[in-house]
Amino acid sequence: MGETRSFWNDMRGFWLGLLAVGLIGTIYQCGNLNPETRAPAIQGAPEPQAPKERFGIIWSDFLVDSGEVKSGQSLSHLLSPAGLAAGAIANIAESSKPTYDVRSMRAGQPWWLAYREDSSQTPAFFIYQRNPMDYAVFPLDSPYGVKLGTLPTDTVIERAKGIIQEALYLDLERSGAPTSLALSMASVYAWTVDFSRLQKGDAFDIIYERTYVAGKPTGMPRVIVCHFEHRGQSLPAYRFDQGEGLDYFDSEGQSLRKAFLKAPVEFSRISSRYNMKRFHPVLNRMKAHYGTDYAAPSGTPIIAVGDGVVTKSAYTSGNGKYVKIRHNETYETQYLHMSRRAVHVGERVRQGQTIGYVGSTGLATGPHVCFRFWKNGKQVDHLREAFPPSTPIKDDHIADFEETMTRLRLAIEEGGEVR
Ligand SMILES: [Zn+2]
Repeated sequence: MGETRSFWNDMRGFWLGLLAVGLIGTIYQCGNLNPETRAPAIQGAPEPQAPKERFGIIWSDFLVDSGEVKSGQSLSHLLSPAGLAAGAIANIAESSKPTYDVRSMRAGQPWWLAYREDSSQTPAFFIYQRNPMDYAVFPLDSPYGVKLGTLPTDTVIERAKGIIQEALYLDLERSGAPTSLALSMASVYAWTVDFSRLQKGDAFDIIYERTYVAGKPTGMPRVIVCHFEHRGQSLPAYRFDQGEGLDYFDSEGQSLRKAFLKAPVEFSRISSRYNMKRFHPVLNRMKAHYGTDYAAPSGTPIIAVGDGVVTKSAYTSGNGKYVKIRHNETYETQYLHMSRRAVHVGERVRQGQTIGYVGSTGLATGPHVCFRFWKNGKQVDHLREAFPPSTPIKDDHIADFEETMTRLRLAIEEGGEVR
């Protein structure tokens, strides 16, 4: 990881813009290159300053030309204008093949040609950027081959602050933040906030980090701290690792992730487990069982295993009376064979709330609830799912957490340092 800088987005854009203009100027001052081979500098990939070393090469020792691979261009299209013979180009392609196949070069990717700054002005290296992080360096003299490398990255702390006027991602964009920050935020609050119910006036103040490679952001922004006002409620999220990986906690040290209840009925026994090959007692044939059956007396309350919104409250001949709940972007649950339903579509339910009563409507031999669980739209056996822990801050981490939380709160409230 490189140095950590901290400044406002708009200032960053401004300076990078200036630097980009400067860089384009520099490239055009290189001179002595055949103007036809000279491509414009890559837009949007400005350098903070002309680097001494780049791609493992002492950059300042060379005159550098650069461009982007155009559609249909191969290595020979790029190297022959630089004066390389067809035989040499074939040799370069052949000897690099075990490490990197030049046929996998793609249009739109940047390249550089480094010429010796002596009287010979011969090309010494060809560099191709494979993706935002990885590059390949081809020496243009024998012995040929290729060397693969990875660019150094910078972690930059940024901040986004605003009030929702339209939609979160639009208001984030307006504040100068990437729209993808909305997704990062939604995953932080996946268990506590229904992002489809954000409203005008909700306020966000977020400090997040982003990885930059050569001045270009890559990957998703990562929330460090978020002060979020939703429907008049203050919902702070502080990032902290108490040895179980990075997690988000509120000011009381409670995890923002909520665990599901283990079962949808309090006193029950499992009468049939999730099973891809089960003999169905009513249908009298093999039929996959995509749920877990909990047997309980008729009329026993069935409870929601987590907070969510009712998406179905209906009757079918197979399911009987049933209810389906969406908990967040990832998880949904369904409860079948009810004697009676207690919620309607669109209703918000809390974990533990009664949503119906045990019965044997539909294809059922006796009173039970068939509990079904979806992960990303696919039915899974919830008893086999490894749910991430959502433990509150443990005693031996409280002091550490308090210190981190205070620092993060001051960073938001008074512009203090995040680290
Ligand atoms: Zn079942």
